[in-house]
Amino acid sequence: MTSVADLMAYDEVLDRFDPVLGLEVHTELNTQTKMFCGCTTTFGAEQNTQTCPICLGLPGALPVVNAVGIESAIRIGLALNCEIAQWCRFARKNYFYPDMPKNFQTSQYDEPIAFNGWLDVLLDDGSVFRVEIERAHMEEDTGKSLHVGGSAGRIHGAEYSLLDYNRAGVPLIEIVTKPITGTGERAPEVARAYVSALRDLLRALNVSDVRMDQGSLRCDANVSLMTKDATEFGTRTETKNVNSLRSVERAVRFEMCRQGAILATGGSILQETRHYEEVSQSTRSGRIKETAEDYRYFPEPDLVPIAPSREWVEQLRATLPELPWERNNRLKADWNLSDEEFRDLVNAGALELIVATVDAGAPADEARSWWVAYLTQQANTRGVELAELPITPARLARVIVLIAEGKLTTTLARQVVDGVLAGEGEPDEIIAARGLAVVSDDSALLAAVDEALAEQPDIAEKIRSGKVAAAGAIVGAVMKKTKGQADAKRVRELILERCAEQ
Ligand code: ADP
Ligand code: MG
Ligand code: ZN
Repeated sequence: MTSVADLMAYDEVLDRFDPVLGLEVHTELNTQTKMFCGCTTTFGAEQNTQTCPICLGLPGALPVVNAVGIESAIRIGLALNCEIAQWCRFARKNYFYPDMPKNFQTSQYDEPIAFNGWLDVLLDDGSVFRVEIERAHMEEDTGKSLHVGGSAGRIHGAEYSLLDYNRAGVPLIEIVTKPITGTGERAPEVARAYVSALRDLLRALNVSDVRMDQGSLRCDANVSLMTKDATEFGTRTETKNVNSLRSVERAVRFEMCRQGAILATGGSILQETRHYEEVSQSTRSGRIKETAEDYRYFPEPDLVPIAPSREWVEQLRATLPELPWERNNRLKADWNLSDEEFRDLVNAGALELIVATVDAGAPADEARSWWVAYLTQQANTRGVELAELPITPARLARVIVLIAEGKLTTTLARQVVDGVLAGEGEPDEIIAARGLAVVSDDSALLAAVDEALAEQPDIAEKIRSGKVAAAGAIVGAVMKKTKGQADAKRVRELILERCAEQ
């Protein structure tokens, strides 16, 4: 394993080298059935209950293409600004692995369904970085192996392995970037931001669950370094198993530092796959990379070529929803925010929460202010993400509506929100249980007003002589007496009325 001593400091890597990235993202489509058979695809079903002769590769079984899978692939290609092939075929990628019962993966090789596109990616500082897309092609997922008895679920040292073929044949789209150059120090950030933007895009298209934690979105990160005067790319490694956005960023950074150290001492980089380990935040060697020749690709003889008519492609283009960046621009304009304000709210992870709070009936500026101020503060104190706070947008929206109706003051509202965060239930239940309703009963308020005026006769005198601004001190005193439960506006009115009478 690589120890810290084998890593070059990040700044030094950047002084000596330019990083080059290549990202391969696999996304499982959310079709009802598999890519080449009628088996269902529900995640988490009992092992080996979603299989048939086709996806088990039994002799004589013949595959049929899933039309929805093709539609999704074309829509993804269009959203990524790709050209859509006039004619393309599936290919067999031949290799043996126990999780692949056919002994070949049905994939696409030199005839991908979509190619030559780009995706604009928003970076943390608000600038946009364009990532060029080489291709998006269709293929099928493999089954899952479970290695039992070894350490960390690895095959080495395992006593036995279990195989689940439910996932074998689930449609996958692999989206491959062209080599990404010119990122400099932002290489790890660009990698994360790209996967994040792609995930948002696939979610908006409703073609995948895009759950990195469940494996429906997976990223392999290719990284190489080139010296400043080099004219050719260096040798790359391909890091697999990167199953969170944070890991994408860390894996790229780690590989840069590892490769930098090797190159600086005259060593050379092995073209290999590596595995990212969440716990040590490092990569370890996998296998020496196969070349395309090793797979003996050939056109799949059991499937007809795909020749999407231009009319069909245009019909599919018309089904593209509002894409994430279009939606962002619309929301920014609707909410009347500057680029910086909008970026801050995106970086705080508040965008979807605000949208949901607005959908639940709250005005946008109120929703935004709660999420980016009080609730962000609460999330920071607890060391959790904003979305992990135990308050739903619907509950927050209810609190905001109660403030607008004059049934809660801001002070009381915070106590209600604290109650929700403490798991005390719905806002209305908490108001009842904690007795937090606004005191709007004038007689109760008047008693407190009279008391406060009597306690501060000099201020009372000032108000009577026309110095209305002095009323603020009495309002404060009344709020204190009523533990923040009074409606401040009404209290002020009552003070002025009282002083006018006397
Ligand atoms: P493989 O079959 O080896 O996975 P792919 O073509 O599917 O190859 O993906 C390779 C990825 O790595 C692509 O995104 C490509 O742009 C990128 N890439 C190619 N050469 C380099 C390099 N020298 N350094 C970094 N990335 C590279
Ligand atoms: Mg690949
Ligand atoms: Zn099947």
